[in-house]
Amino acid sequence: MGRKFFVGGNWKCNGTIEEVKKIVKLLNQSQLPPPGVVEVVVSPPYVFLPLVQSELRPEIQVAAQNCWVKKGGAYTGEISAEMLANLGIPWVILGHSERRALLNETNEFVGDKVAYALAQGLKVIACVGETLEQRESGSTLEVVAAQTKAIAERVTDWTNIVVAYEPVWAIGTGKVATPAQAQEVHLELRKWLAANTSPEVAESTRIIYGGSVNGANCKELGGQPDVDGFLVGGASLKPEFIDIIKAAE
Ligand code: PEP
Repeated sequence: MGRKFFVGGNWKCNGTIEEVKKIVKLLNQSQLPPPGVVEVVVSPPYVFLPLVQSELRPEIQVAAQNCWVKKGGAYTGEISAEMLANLGIPWVILGHSERRALLNETNEFVGDKVAYALAQGLKVIACVGETLEQRESGSTLEVVAAQTKAIAERVTDWTNIVVAYEPVWAIGTGKVATPAQAQEVHLELRKWLAANTSPEVAESTRIIYGGSVNGANCKELGGQPDVDGFLVGGASLKPEFIDIIKAAE
């Protein structure tokens, strides 16, 4: 079974209503590969989700950038997975490195969130990735395996999970991983899934790359056998996002 190419756009904490409408217009007016070839998901800040969901062409889906770890209640400032499901938001990004680093989200906490969000019917883009220090000390594979293990310990069905390998040193830095560096980690992650979940899960789970992907580097990265698409930050707010989606062709 082939893995359908997946392109996610993480808008992070950016945008005004006017800017959001401009991006939606661009996405709606562009000629894109058919949905059978590529799955496209954009992730605006929470407050813009209903607007984007209602104005965006139906073949492009939306994702929240986070959700709470359990059922909603007295958790001021949080948004629950139930609320996202209630709004008809199909996807959520969990474990982004910015949240791991700035908000001290641990592997276990991210694993709990993934399991809870899936149980509420959401699909999850689960982010893993090493820091520069970890890469330089030779522990990249150990780090991404530990992050993935925390999910695997809490989840049995991987159908609705996309794993995003995002080296922290490549996020927002303009310092993209080489195609060989990305392929190496993606292949190791797939081997890890085969050994620790099942060969079927390893074969069918999409592992996408994130970290300074742009219109110029997407084609070569996307051509690697174990790179099944991208999670795009900065460039997802620009017209070149269309070129990145077209890398699926
Ligand atoms: C991201 O935030 O997930 C990301 C990959 O950012 P950028 O593309 O800007 O490096």
